[in-house]
Amino acid sequence: MTANLLDFDLAGLAVFCERLGEKRFRATQLFRWIHQKGASQFDEMSDLAKSLREKLKVTASIQGLDVTAQHISNDGTIKWLFDVGGGDAVEAVYIPEDDRGTLCISSQAGCVVGCRFCSTGHQGFSRNLTVGEIVAQLWFAEHFLRRRLGTEERVISNVVMMGMGEPLLNYEPLVRALRVMLDDHGYGLSRRRVTVSTSGVVPMMDALSQDCPVALAVSLHAPNNAIRDGLVPLNKKYPLGELLQACMRYLAFAPRDFITLEYCMLEGVNDSIENAQELVDLLRRADHGVHWCKLNLIPFNPFPASGLKRSPRSQVLAFAKILMDAGIVTTVRKTRGDDIDAACGQLAGDVQDITDVQKRMGRRRTIKLNPVLEFDRLATEGTVHG
Ligand code: SF4
Repeated sequence: MTANLLDFDLAGLAVFCERLGEKRFRATQLFRWIHQKGASQFDEMSDLAKSLREKLKVTASIQGLDVTAQHISNDGTIKWLFDVGGGDAVEAVYIPEDDRGTLCISSQAGCVVGCRFCSTGHQGFSRNLTVGEIVAQLWFAEHFLRRRLGTEERVISNVVMMGMGEPLLNYEPLVRALRVMLDDHGYGLSRRRVTVSTSGVVPMMDALSQDCPVALAVSLHAPNNAIRDGLVPLNKKYPLGELLQACMRYLAFAPRDFITLEYCMLEGVNDSIENAQELVDLLRRADHGVHWCKLNLIPFNPFPASGLKRSPRSQVLAFAKILMDAGIVTTVRKTRGDDIDAACGQLAGDVQDITDVQKRMGRRRTIKLNPVLEFDRLATEGTVHG
């Protein structure tokens, strides 16, 4: 069995090269070919000795994920469904904006946390993704988009680990994948522009602050434990008090001087004026002030199994006003990609349950994708548009 080089951060690739009897610096060349140039064939790597390329051909491969579907929204958002084998699929979403290109990627097939408002949570948990499977989403998207836009410049400037899964419950692969994203010889992303979003796995927040302190987003969604227990089951293990203390500890190592708090607005559940006031009190208590956080209010994207409703816009604005009057930086998330089910909490839109995925996988023709070589094929087949 050959090693998939997408599974290695640069340090791991150096060890691999040494085992092949090569100097460690060869790993840097190889790493650049893979991540900066999107190469998937060793013969493309013209500055590597032929003898090394021959060795690599028998010991290694660069194995991306198969894409089973691609949807392009009217607003330019692109969603890909990747086959990760065994009937499982994960999604990645690219969101273009004027000043940045953000890729939202998945860390697990399904999710064990089971948040009530999240369609992935209703799907159940299948397995953790490997380093290579996490990195492959970025590798594919970056080089596919460069090809699509006809540029050799970097297209993806921001990565958010907000796709399927709780990233901190797949910790070791997550950290190694983050290192590939941050490495100057890889994607060269700044720590401020890579965000891990967690539902509140407190011990792993502390670990991340030591191992790879990137920007942090926390799924808060409630002003008290009674409401949060019903929305984010993990709250019973790590209740709000512990979670906010972990946020304070993380701040000392974070690349930004704030933590983003996500709050999904659910009609009649967590969106009242009293809830907003209680939230202000909670956040003030955490640090005798509110400057340590930014609140991101998220319009809920309803799906039938949730039994929940989106808060009316007027309620969202009234809620936001109370937070802002208290000095809390508050944004209301724009929904993107609604027409292709790529909006927040809809990432499992195509994969509502594992059984359905298996059925669909059987019907769908899998497209074997190398991001560069296969662009033309997708374009010809009419799946690239917009
Ligand atoms: S919101 Fe995140 S942690 Fe909660 S179920 Fe969905 S994917 Fe899992």
